[in-house]
Amino acid sequence: MTEPIDRSTVWPYDEAGKPREFYYSRYDHPTGVAAEHALGELEGGEALLYASGMGAVTNVLLTFARAGTRIAIADGAYFGTSKLFGMLAGFGIEYVEYDQTGPAPDADIVWIEAPANPTLTLPNWELLEGHRGLLVCDATVSTPVYLRALERGADIVLHSATKFLTGQHDALLGATVARGEHAERLKLMRVNAGITASPDAASSLLRGLSTLETRMRRHTETATELARRLEAHPAVERVRYPGYSGLISFDVADALAVETATSLIVNATSLGGVHSSLEGRHRWEGDRIPVGLLRLSVGLEDVEALWADLDAALGRTAQTRNL
Ligand code: PLP
Repeated sequence: MTEPIDRSTVWPYDEAGKPREFYYSRYDHPTGVAAEHALGELEGGEALLYASGMGAVTNVLLTFARAGTRIAIADGAYFGTSKLFGMLAGFGIEYVEYDQTGPAPDADIVWIEAPANPTLTLPNWELLEGHRGLLVCDATVSTPVYLRALERGADIVLHSATKFLTGQHDALLGATVARGEHAERLKLMRVNAGITASPDAASSLLRGLSTLETRMRRHTETATELARRLEAHPAVERVRYPGYSGLISFDVADALAVETATSLIVNATSLGGVHSSLEGRHRWEGDRIPVGLLRLSVGLEDVEALWADLDAALGRTAQTRNL
């Protein structure tokens, strides 16, 4: 059953004038704590929620980066993360991109994405063993159903919970999961930086987690089949699919023509929802990715209906080219 959401920002002190567990919602609120416990249990650490995925990224940087800090980030990872790193050059933070399927260069922070969005490469965990840097793993696309990154050696797991974890495209939310001192430092910074999640978004996470495993298995089943059929399609030049979860990227000659030709699959950004969506990423990321790369977030619709929509859109654009 859904718990009522307590949207209070303040709660009374006790009879002796001492703060109780909840006193001001920027520190903690009941729905946030309940959702953090649920996510923390799945990941095997202490979870903290933020106003967005980028809020979580910001909090990690504020907590662990200093002037002179060098970050090595997986190339082809979410473009907003490296964009933010670049914007912080004035604070003395440097970053380099590296191929996460190989060894990481020397760095104070190594930022991997499992898998990278939208190139869908996976990090090489074995080669990361013994690296001196703080290891941050953005596991937005894996979710804890497919990866418990703390057990693989990550110091901090990060999620855009806006995506699969909430799953309905109606909540903007970020999360970190860490242990011990890392978790304490992140919490202290979050409280003071003021990037706490709202009770409503936290409640969406509780709802999302209650169906997460079932949704992820279905996303995977459908995406595996669509990736297989896309591989064989004459209008498709290349398919990237990591073998699990609901994200596929594939290259076509004219991405705009395909993305505007689907009807069941919505032409929109973001990923991880129950409804499928598709977009050309070049409009956002420029030449760091192929000009014809389409990112497909596979939802929970019927696989045959999705394929009929994709196949028609691909066929239509192939026909247009032949005219
Ligand atoms: N990390 C990944 C892998 C993402 O795909 C995104 C957003 O697309 C983010 C982080 C940022 O999350 P948010 O949009 O919730 O701020």
